[in-house]
Amino acid sequence: MSFEDYRGVWVFMEVKDGAIVPVAKELLGAGRQLADKRKTELAGVLIGDGVSALAEEAIYYGADQVYVYDAPIFKHYRTETYMRALLACTEKYKPEIILYGATSTGKDLASAVATDLPTGLTADTTQLDVEEDTGLLLASRPAFGGNIMATILCKKYRPQMATVRPKVVRALPRDASRIGTITRESIELREEDVRTKVLEIVRQTVQRVRIDEADIIVAGGKGLGSPAGFQLIHEFADVIGAAVGASRDVVEAGWIGHHHQVGQTGVTVTPKIYFAIGISGAIQHIVGMQNSGLIIAINKDPGALIFQSCHYGIVGDAFEIVPMLIEQFKHALG
Ligand code: FAD
Repeated sequence: MSFEDYRGVWVFMEVKDGAIVPVAKELLGAGRQLADKRKTELAGVLIGDGVSALAEEAIYYGADQVYVYDAPIFKHYRTETYMRALLACTEKYKPEIILYGATSTGKDLASAVATDLPTGLTADTTQLDVEEDTGLLLASRPAFGGNIMATILCKKYRPQMATVRPKVVRALPRDASRIGTITRESIELREEDVRTKVLEIVRQTVQRVRIDEADIIVAGGKGLGSPAGFQLIHEFADVIGAAVGASRDVVEAGWIGHHHQVGQTGVTVTPKIYFAIGISGAIQHIVGMQNSGLIIAINKDPGALIFQSCHYGIVGDAFEIVPMLIEQFKHALG
């Protein structure tokens, strides 16, 4: 394998409900920086059915080039079909780096591609950089239970691949004057040869907002006392249309699932407004929400660390304050 043959930074352009997912746009922003440093091209790989119109969007968000696989066989995400397309594209154009959003689709695809290509994959990256002269991707992520940040290198193989968490890098502003090249690609794939069939898509009946995409998060901590007490967080979130976040201690107590955990070993969030209720403000929690636009803390201990990291702090009992907020918001929002 000659490293000189491998050029360019690629981003897998995941599409959901007819639109490019936010993390793919964020990765184009990060990929742009890597590609500029390497003086190379940034490309998006777009796979789906009826997705061609989205190729220009990828260019507006930073891509120089978009490879498009648009065919009915790609209507629903299936590991086998998407992997075959991406592998064919990789073999044809030989990218130096491929980035995927750390969504369930991105993680599934990246790990499938990594099993077929003779290369590795850094999962759940939170920081990206590249060595200008060697092209080595510096993919950093928390390791050993979040106690250290590890920078992982793939020194011997190409392409270098990483999944990147949503909201850890920034998308560039959409620029509709950008121009780039769109290349249509296809592969020989017959429906009869694909082992997986999508029979039906069952949507969750309760559509809760995902915390990594939410504009407002109401997060609760151990100060809520019990699973029943934590219901107050759900109630408040419902009234203001927010997603529910939680501290690790709450998740470990089993009051809510892990995908609600904010922090070093949970999800990194940057909503416009973050309510931290009954959360002490341990550093491992703070690192996951400190870039929120407005942080409002409610805690009965005036010495709680959370008050050092918030814009507004309310000292008091959550069980007195939150019901008052619920009433006021219900009234204000009609
Ligand atoms: P506590 O520390 O018990 O705080 C409860 C707070 O509620 C207190 O400040 C108290 O004053 C207040 N309170 C009590 N009753 C009320 C009331 N009625 N009204 C208002 N306030 C009240 N934590 C995370 O959150 N996310 C992570 O990703 C994470 N990763 C970690 C990784 C490592 C390697 C380690 C070692 C720890 C990690 N932690 C993480 C745990 C973290 O250190 C804290 O233990 C945890 O955040 C504390 O959760 P808490 O604030 O809910 O609970």
